[in-house]
Amino acid sequence: MAHRIVTLPGDGIGPEIMAAAEQVLGELGDFQLEEQLVGGASIDAHGTALTDEVLDACRGADAALLAAVGGPKWDTTDPAKPRPEQGLLGLRKGLGLFANLRPVRPSPALLDSSPLKRELIEDTDLLVVRELTGGIYFGERGLNGDTAYDTCVYSEAEVERIARVGFELARRKVTSVDKANILETSRLWRKVVDRVGAGEDTPLEHMLVDNAAMQLVSRPAEFDVILTENMFGDILSDEAAMLTGSLGMLPSASLGDGSGPGLFEPVHGSAPDIAGTGTANPLAMFGSVALMLRHGLAMENEATALESAVDRALGDGLRTPDLGGDATTEAATRAVVANL
Ligand code: NAD
Repeated sequence: MAHRIVTLPGDGIGPEIMAAAEQVLGELGDFQLEEQLVGGASIDAHGTALTDEVLDACRGADAALLAAVGGPKWDTTDPAKPRPEQGLLGLRKGLGLFANLRPVRPSPALLDSSPLKRELIEDTDLLVVRELTGGIYFGERGLNGDTAYDTCVYSEAEVERIARVGFELARRKVTSVDKANILETSRLWRKVVDRVGAGEDTPLEHMLVDNAAMQLVSRPAEFDVILTENMFGDILSDEAAMLTGSLGMLPSASLGDGSGPGLFEPVHGSAPDIAGTGTANPLAMFGSVALMLRHGLAMENEATALESAVDRALGDGLRTPDLGGDATTEAATRAVVANL
């Protein structure tokens, strides 16, 4: 039976890169696509960034593929007004997605576009596995007069399930990143990761987050899986992202316990500054499709084929404006399809 995918184009360049993704999917197999509204587009239609119907449609699908949400039209500081990113948070929460995966593997043809020297990033192929639903972003917070606080909370069960994802996806080793010399949550993190690691063949190392930030730019190729908590992962994954040289290249996946669909989306936003110009780089979107094929639909061969096609198109000289060229979204899509 055809895999069922809910597509969520969202806002700005979202619909443009989703159209490109659909074209690529059409070359890769038989998929049943169901398009739904999220973000600003959903606010315009329904007054909320995510409706229960859309969440239910996602729950009933094999995977959810999202392009991007947001834009100046919906920017507001009024807490009572709906905001596009509530759609993303609602999907993550509603689908129980606790593991965020961000692979970083600079394409050979783009090694010279990185702000780091080619020798440093050559052979970099790492995966940041970030805990997505706990930690300081979700702890109790408050403001008392001139004093504010945010609390960081983790339970053993929360650490254990993300640690298992890290070990499952590791090929060479797991580097668990924390701040165990200071934070109690980090000491708990380290204890639980050690326990999970003891039952695995994959080597485990612990690294303090300040050291990890340094190592990421000084010897990125040494890393395989970087396993870390929510806020450290947020910061380190953006730092790791710069190794590839462009935001338009980075895919992500968010996974739950496997009983429901994952959510697959590019790391970049809706790029309102270039929306409608037909020049958005669709490669992060294609990378997200590859992650969906690999982690969401168990179609590893198709995932690898798509990633290789992107590498070959770049090798042939494909460059959208963000990469210093003048290829349109359509031309980029044609180039990748031609290499499939
Ligand atoms: P952005 O990622 O949309 O854009 C940053 C810069 O990168 C812009 O100059 C943009 O043109 C460029 N860019 C991004 N993606 C590109 C692509 N595929 N091809 C070519 N160039 C690309 O970030 P921003 O400008 O800070 O945010 C714009 C809107 O997107 C905001 O409303 C923000 O809230 C939202 N946003 C959404 C997500 C998401 O949907 N996951 C993530 C980040 C930001």
